[in-house]
Amino acid sequence: MRLCRKCFAESIEEKTRATIAKYRMFSHDDRIAVAVSGGKDSVSLLHVLAKIEERYPKAELVAVTVDEGIKGYRDEALRIAAENCKELGVEHRIVTFRRLFGRTFDQMVERVRGCDVVNLTPCAYCGVLRRKALNAAARNVGADKLVTGHTLDDETQTILLNIFHGDVLRLAKEKPVTDMVHAKLVRRVKPFCEIPERETALYAFVKSVRFQGSPCPYAGEALRNDARAILNGLEEEHPGIMFSIFKSIERIRPALEVMAKKEGLKECAECGEPTTDNVCRTCQMRKQIG
Ligand code: SF4
Ligand code: ZN
Repeated sequence: MRLCRKCFAESIEEKTRATIAKYRMFSHDDRIAVAVSGGKDSVSLLHVLAKIEERYPKAELVAVTVDEGIKGYRDEALRIAAENCKELGVEHRIVTFRRLFGRTFDQMVERVRGCDVVNLTPCAYCGVLRRKALNAAARNVGADKLVTGHTLDDETQTILLNIFHGDVLRLAKEKPVTDMVHAKLVRRVKPFCEIPERETALYAFVKSVRFQGSPCPYAGEALRNDARAILNGLEEEHPGIMFSIFKSIERIRPALEVMAKKEGLKECAECGEPTTDNVCRTCQMRKQIG
């Protein structure tokens, strides 16, 4: 069945609303921090949530953007994120790597390239730092939940990656809405987890939403690209297979949660953030990078 632009946009809003209800993602009076990078998924999500929020006058949205300090890339994304927030009347906060960690990401990459101690791709350490920055930003704005634009494609890629890495129990934690495990850790929510990326892109297109199209110059986590190619190929041949993979993990998640060691969280001896070790991964990485 073909849908007109308006009906297609409404169908995405309705699907998102249904996902939110199914996983009980929010309370009616939540202050919700939306991680807006400026890319199509996060910007579409902001528009969808702004629409849904109209029915919940006690709920509040605040957009948070991480400025890693990636020259020629993040500057444009920041502008686009700000424009979308202004259009929707959503408060916008920016948190920078330079302020949080003392250096821009470009400077960190430069240092890592100059030494052979850190054997990680830029995305591997950027991911850890971004996660920490987003949590800090959400906490600073007093958010009850931190929402990210992970789509069905992202979720199934992560499933495959964890299997490739032999780390399947990690999936116990990758839930559509995380548990409250520590007072300093804002619960993370993924309202697009059942929506394919091509639909979030089409939503942005039909709503004439501006988003950043150019990729990050450091993007290219080899294994994730392989997982994406495998899944896209399978989906092309067998439509709906990504959703089946996602649902399979949802079905066995309770068993995974029982099997996964219940790790008690403590506070990092150096920065005070929640961690399972004495010193969190961010602080360990910062020491390595120097
Ligand atoms: Fe960071 Fe990688 Fe994302 Fe670039 S693509 S912002 S390096 S995680
Ligand atoms: Zn730390």
